[in-house]
Amino acid sequence: MIRRIFIERLTTLLTAIAVAPSSVLAYGKNQLRIRKDGRESFIPYIEKDKQIYISLVDFAQSGNYGFFTNEERRKTVLYVGRDKIKFTADNSFIVLNNQLVQILWEPFWKEGEIWLPVQVLADLFTEQTVHAMQFDMKTKTLNIGTKNVNISQIQISAKENGTLIHIFSSRAFTKKDIALKQVHDWLYVEIYGGKADASILNKKHLSGLVSEIQVVPFAQSVSLAFKLRKKISSRQLVFQPGSPDIYLTLRTEEPLTQQDSETKRLEEQKKDWRIHTIVLDPGHGGKDPGAIGYRKLREKDIVLPVALKLGKEINKRLPDVKVIYTRKTDVFIPLWKRTKIANENNGKLFISLHCNANRNKKVRGFETYFLSAEKDAKARNVVLKENESVSFESSTDQKRYQGVNFVLATLAQNAFIKYSQYFATVVQKSLTNKLRSVDMKSRGVKQGPFWVMVGATMPNILVEMGFVSNKYEAKQLKRKSTQTKLASAICDGIVKYKTDIESAM
Ligand SMILES: [Zn+2]
Repeated sequence: MIRRIFIERLTTLLTAIAVAPSSVLAYGKNQLRIRKDGRESFIPYIEKDKQIYISLVDFAQSGNYGFFTNEERRKTVLYVGRDKIKFTADNSFIVLNNQLVQILWEPFWKEGEIWLPVQVLADLFTEQTVHAMQFDMKTKTLNIGTKNVNISQIQISAKENGTLIHIFSSRAFTKKDIALKQVHDWLYVEIYGGKADASILNKKHLSGLVSEIQVVPFAQSVSLAFKLRKKISSRQLVFQPGSPDIYLTLRTEEPLTQQDSETKRLEEQKKDWRIHTIVLDPGHGGKDPGAIGYRKLREKDIVLPVALKLGKEINKRLPDVKVIYTRKTDVFIPLWKRTKIANENNGKLFISLHCNANRNKKVRGFETYFLSAEKDAKARNVVLKENESVSFESSTDQKRYQGVNFVLATLAQNAFIKYSQYFATVVQKSLTNKLRSVDMKSRGVKQGPFWVMVGATMPNILVEMGFVSNKYEAKQLKRKSTQTKLASAICDGIVKYKTDIESAM
């Protein structure tokens, strides 16, 4: 009997041991490990769409970071070291140290907290701040460290009689460590023993006398070069007791015309992002009929009524937004003039409307493009076809589109590409939703080098609303009810994009 009890107990014990590892696993199943400064902590995570989401509040608490949540506006601000990052639920735009940045994923809101994929958070910190975060999916571990830098940020603010350059430092430098040198309109600040991540510092917002920053790290020092807009009358290095930061004041003889304090600058920036003017560009017109399709249906005759309907819809749903048309009647407008109209009116979004055609009459569906020097293989025909409008233009006008200009204009556009891409995704999504009822299908978001989008200094897209060469779609495109659907779907996209950009601020 005794022996049996012993065996039973042993079995129980063995079972207990056998169970132990899996129970540890069960505990760890929804727990993410955070390693920071040689310490470990655990926070819960949610697995969704193959992404590991964590709560920003849990993240802040485990890392001892400051945070503030506005439940009403569904925003959380994180204070990590000297970086301030504002997240908004259901919005892929964030504000990092007062600059708008897009992340690849929309965080969601759950029980008063913002949840974000840990990978997105890690990439954001590593790419944009002095913090280095690395996430290991297998062991669900987030390693938090700091890059080997002691110069973490540069802030420039314009004052009435000059400009203040504030260099954030974690090491107390003295005047002996710093050499100032001016060559033409460049002011060089050489910091011996300074370490910086050039890719982060080069991204800083410029203001006042500084029009450009170049950061070059060397083995023993870092060189910060500031390009100056005006001649300076004096410059001075200033240290504040108790702070390792470096301040450099630049003074001009005459006061700056644009007085622009830090808060004013922020306000300006917000205003700058506000989508107050939208430019609608119905393609072709006049002597350029665009694509000709089933029963001689002309592209120019579809895109104009859709543009006019879209403009009305915008007026109704966004009464504060000004709508500018590149054409409101059946007239010919050269391509270069279309973006010129958009730029001159300080447009914040540019939407070019078109219809597609194909020799194969079975081909159908709608697609949204954003401008890019690269093109998708299948986009080639569409790009060629839309760029053909140039052949209707005078030979002097045609010279505007020479190769070199195109490359330059595309590069200038780069700042807007990610916004254009996002806008294209949003519009294509709402078109997909609204056109399901008339059995028109999505061909996706694509990219290509379109002349009409070159030179626009704002996010812009080109929508191919369907194929005039396809019998079914030609009939649909001619219908007023389908045209209304197209306009209302594009308007949905505009409203979503505008809300996302503006609510992130
Ligand atoms: Zn077209």
